[in-house]
Amino acid sequence: MLHLQTTQVLASHLDDQTVQSLANQLQGELIRAGDANYDEARAVWNGMIDRHPALIARCATVEDVVAAVNFARKHHLPLAVRGGGHNVAGLAVAADDGLVVDLSVLNQVEVDPQARTARAQGGATIGDLDAATQAHGLAAPMGVVSATGIAGLTLGGGFGWLRNKYGLSCDNLIGAQVVTADGRVVTANENENRDLLWGLRGGGGNFGIVTEFEYQLYPVGPEVAFTFILHDAEGDNLKRAIQFYRDYSSQAPDEISTIMASGIVPPEPELFPEPIHHKPFVLLGAMYAGEAAEGQQVMKPLIDFGEPLVDFSGIMPYVEAQKAFDADYPDGLRYYWKSLNLSRLDDEVIDRFVEHARRQPSVFSTVDLWYVGGAVKRGSASDSAFHGRQAAFLLSPEANWEHPEDDEANIAWLREFIADMEEFSDGSRYLNFPGFLEEGDEMMRAAFGDKYQRLQALKDKYDPTNFFSLNQNIKPSH
Ligand SMILES: Cc1cc2nc3c(=O)[nH]c(=O)nc-3n(C[C@H](O)[C@H](O)[C@H](O)COP(=O)(O)OP(=O)(O)OC[C@H]3O[C@@H](n4cnc5c(N)ncnc54)[C@H](O)[C@@H]3O)c2cc1C
Repeated sequence: MLHLQTTQVLASHLDDQTVQSLANQLQGELIRAGDANYDEARAVWNGMIDRHPALIARCATVEDVVAAVNFARKHHLPLAVRGGGHNVAGLAVAADDGLVVDLSVLNQVEVDPQARTARAQGGATIGDLDAATQAHGLAAPMGVVSATGIAGLTLGGGFGWLRNKYGLSCDNLIGAQVVTADGRVVTANENENRDLLWGLRGGGGNFGIVTEFEYQLYPVGPEVAFTFILHDAEGDNLKRAIQFYRDYSSQAPDEISTIMASGIVPPEPELFPEPIHHKPFVLLGAMYAGEAAEGQQVMKPLIDFGEPLVDFSGIMPYVEAQKAFDADYPDGLRYYWKSLNLSRLDDEVIDRFVEHARRQPSVFSTVDLWYVGGAVKRGSASDSAFHGRQAAFLLSPEANWEHPEDDEANIAWLREFIADMEEFSDGSRYLNFPGFLEEGDEMMRAAFGDKYQRLQALKDKYDPTNFFSLNQNIKPSH
């Protein structure tokens, strides 16, 4: 029924011969509605997403990407781009009845250990990049779940365990190969199309399909000191923990990048010991980007604070620490997230946080705080389109749950939470977290602040028809 419907829509637009002409041009696979692997190919990480593109071009080469772009443009098809497929709103497959340019098999990474740089194809995951760079004792700052795509992450910013020392992922993007709306393959770096490089550092997928990302690398690991401890958050403990986190993270050296999360220990025996199931917790997480033994000393206050429920901290391989959250975000669960840049984190803000956090309807949900400091804060506004360095903390409540019948309660919880925190923010948010497409000129202007105009001029230059619109969209000026 589902397949019949989508085939009909496709048939109404394009005949078989036309579709076959695209298939013939590709070295990779063209997946159509009705094919045996169609449902697997249209599925993304978030189980809430149920989109029906007509065609999925699993590109195996840059030429494939060019062919797919030219085809979609010629036939006026909506076009979505899939990197790692981890965008919470499901933007990777958002082209109902249109074409998805799926980069998932373009996932090779090449490292130049002398120059300390890496070139990664547009479909690589954080895990792919980490594995290749760590073979040389190097790393690029990435996010904290290894299955996330480097593409969406970098194009939107990229907060992770190395950010205070080395900046966001986008700050370390030093070059890119991009397929533009008119099917050209262009290079962006400090010498060529510098304006485009600026836009790719935080401006999202608005300007083209990035087939290759080039990163600056740093010596990291192979072993690092890593803190990942759940303290009891019963009663006043949560408020005290947030106060402690605020003070600790803002005074810590740049080597330390932190995350705090409040939640309820889920009843998952393979992850957590049974006696602590259903207990409220506060997670204090941190990595030390430096000598490991020294790191353990400096991070000790995070361990000593409060009453530990369970402690996963230690000196461990960097790639292992990079996977610490992986098991908490399985494919196919239902997810709805939002974010807000907080201008302050005083007691009034904390009380409001605690009030809403305590009401989480699902044991799988968490409320996360990311300290915004160090190299993130120092990053120059003129070097990147990313806007959000002015924040004191990034607030990111995550509703994560299992059953469709609980959709309404979880979504409502999160929306009320964010709405009630807006007064503590300048209205800007981190565009990599939202769980539905956040639209509207006003929201996008707030998200990019004084950079919006420059981004719009860049859109006018590289994508004046808004061919790449299924993203956090910056619209051309006319
Ligand atoms: C489990 C999980 C953990 C996360 N952890 C972090 C974290 O630690 N830090 C952080 O900052 N963020 C984090 N995020 C948010 C993450 O950065 C975004 O979800 C991001 O969009 C994921 O990128 P992707 O390539 O996997 O997504 P996709 O869904 O494939 O794409 C996301 C967007 O980017 C566009 N796009 C994808 N590839 C390309 C390309 N090659 N060229 C041009 N446009 C492209 C798509 O069209 C889409 O609009 C996390 C998300 C999840 C689900």
